[in-house]
Formats: sequence, structure tokens, C-alpha cells
Amino acid sequence: MGDAAGLVDALLGEGIYNAIRSGQAAAAAIRDELEHGLAAAAGYARRLAEIQNDVAACYRAAVKFYNNLDVGYAALMSPVIRRAAMKGYAVGLTFSETRK
Ligand SMILES: Cc1cc2nc3c(=O)[nH]c(=O)nc-3n(C[C@H](O)[C@H](O)[C@H](O)COP(=O)(O)OP(=O)(O)OC[C@H]3O[C@@H](n4cnc5c(N)ncnc54)[C@H](O)[C@@H]3O)c2cc1C
Repeated sequence: MGDAAGLVDALLGEGIYNAIRSGQAAAAAIRDELEHGLAAAAGYARRLAEIQNDVAACYRAAVKFYNNLDVGYAALMSPVIRRAAMKGYAVGLTFSETRK
């Protein structure tokens, strides 16, 4: 979970959100096994995959953003991207949700 599972967001350097999300995923998977007999390991892997997809999207964006400062600066200055990012992160959306 968290840092140990490589869930830091490479774009913003944030790790707390995904550490909590992955902890909640583990707790939900254990609950599902105890209450419904569903395999906890499979449940955790399915939930973790959602977080990993978002981490991968952040990583791809970070590579583009930090590898070429002109591109990164242009993205920051773009009203469309800036507004979407501000609004998305302000209401607690993930990077992938904000991008959609
Ligand atoms: C300087 C700095 C600033 C940061 N700022 C931000 C920020 O603004 N926003 C943000 O989202 N993220 C930030 N992060 C990242 C964030 O702190 C981490 O991503 C997050 O704390 C990861 O949580 P975690 O539970 O995975 O790991 P941790 O918080 O590292 O918790 C792991 C715990 O396990 C313990 N432990 C390790 N080995 C053992 C063992 N063998 N037995 C028992 N216990 C053990 C450790 O002592 C530790 O308490 C920052 C990180 C740093 C270093």
C-alpha cells in the first residue's frame, strides 16, 4: 500500500491520497471476504488496478511535463488545462477523472 506499492503521483509528488485509497481498498477487500466469502487478494488486486491506472496516467503526464519545460509551461498557461485541473483537484477528482 501507499509508497511501498509505488503509488506516489509523479506529476504532483502527492502520496497521501493514494496511500489512503489503497488502505481503504485493502480494508474493503478484507470486509468482502469476511462478510461475503469473496477472496480478499483478488478484491484487493482489482481495486489496486484502478489506482495503478491513475498512477500510470500521472507518470505519463509527468514525463511530458518535466521532460520538456516548454511543453510543461504551455500546459500550465493553457486556460482549458488550468481550469480543468483547478476544478478537478478542488472537488477531489483523480487525475484520470479530471482529464475526462
Ligand atoms: C518531505 C515530504 C513532503 C511530502 N509532502 C507531501 C504532500 O504535501 N502531499 C502528499 O500527498 N504527499 C506528500 N509526501 C508524500 C507522503 O508523505 C507519502 O506518500 C505518504 O506518507 C505515504 O504513506 P505510506 O503510508 O505509504 O508510507 P509512510 O507514511 O512512510 O508510512 C510507513 C510507515 O511504516 C513504518 N515502517 C517501515 N518499516 C517498518 C517495519 N519494518 N515495521 C514497522 N513499521 C515500519 C514507517 O516508520 C512509517 O511510519 C511528502 C513526502 C515527503 C518526504
